[in-house]
Amino acid sequence: MTDVVVTSPASLRVPELGQFRRIVIKVGSSLLVDRERGRLKRNWLSALVQDIARLHEKGAEVIVVSSGAIALGRTVLQFPPGSLKLEESQAAAAVGQIALARRWTEALAVHEIIAGQILLTFSDTEKRRRYLHARATIGKLLELKAIPIINENDSVATSEIRYGDNDRLAARVATMVGADLLILLSDVDGLYTAPPGGNPHARHIPMVAKITPEIEAMAGGAASELSRGGMRTKVEAGKIATAGGACMMITDGRVDSPLGAVMNGGLCTWFLSPSNPVTARKKWIAGTLQPLGVLHVDAGAERALRRGASLLPAGVKRLEGNFHRGDAVSVRDQDGREIGRGLIGYDADEAAMIAGHATQDIEQILGHGGRATMVHRDDLVLFAHDDFEIGVKDNV
Ligand code: GLU
Repeated sequence: MTDVVVTSPASLRVPELGQFRRIVIKVGSSLLVDRERGRLKRNWLSALVQDIARLHEKGAEVIVVSSGAIALGRTVLQFPPGSLKLEESQAAAAVGQIALARRWTEALAVHEIIAGQILLTFSDTEKRRRYLHARATIGKLLELKAIPIINENDSVATSEIRYGDNDRLAARVATMVGADLLILLSDVDGLYTAPPGGNPHARHIPMVAKITPEIEAMAGGAASELSRGGMRTKVEAGKIATAGGACMMITDGRVDSPLGAVMNGGLCTWFLSPSNPVTARKKWIAGTLQPLGVLHVDAGAERALRRGASLLPAGVKRLEGNFHRGDAVSVRDQDGREIGRGLIGYDADEAAMIAGHATQDIEQILGHGGRATMVHRDDLVLFAHDDFEIGVKDNV
């Protein structure tokens, strides 16, 4: 049992739903689909959509990330209970997604709101060019007052390069569109200091100012996994969202009108974001889930980076990975700690040739003139010393 005292500092006010302008709402399969009958819970959806319509009416832009395609499709295809093979779940997603999108469209139409379906794969959020396209489409839908209904494109996503969980997908969507709030509707009412089931000392945490290793530990642990419904991926999602400038809130979606319940004082956990949000570009860099390479830098280069300089080839001691110019790479210090992330200015083979060399020698080594920097300061996000991945520092 942890002895961490979790109180909300008086200076930090608990946010209110009404203060947010762009909200991503993640709806889990277990809320939408009746496990026994494999049908969509229409009444529950209608009540949630009423909550959403109220936010929409007040001028908030709402984006829904909805799970449930596989759960719905497997019923239609009459798959037996138990885990599915990859192709089976992809077939189930293909069948279920049609029904899922139709139900959302119908439920929103009651409030004269238009729905637009967007199916994303991992590379749509991780490759900057594709990410910009997806962001532009979502932005246009919001401008048109439509509500994007997003899911992972499970029927084409392959196992190695998929999210697999919509918590992290929703967090990436939130940072991608510059949302100020991510709501995870779940089957628990928030984070507890210990597994809530059967532990009389477990205390509900109303607000997390910063995701520390202690907070992460509360979410983990095999014994708690069942009763907390994947709290670990939710805290992972929290790290992505808060680093990108969005607050996150977890609440129990099993009640009717869960958002209404929170507005009326229902239990939830808020994860706050650092007050100075980073620029959109830096948000994307900081939240990259899969850096394609690692640059090991020397102490002098680290000091220069912390002063706001770009990373020069001379400061890179060695590098790993098969990356191309424009890919995200991780920057590590002498002890191997990740100190930041950035977009690399060179392909891996050329980067290896010029690593450790002075900028004026680049042309001679490569046979052509290249960029002076390995990672330009505008493409670099440094993590604060004690604050890995969370305290993203804006050094523009
Ligand atoms: N994308 C999956 C589906 O629609 C759900 C993933 C999740 O539940 O997190 O069925």
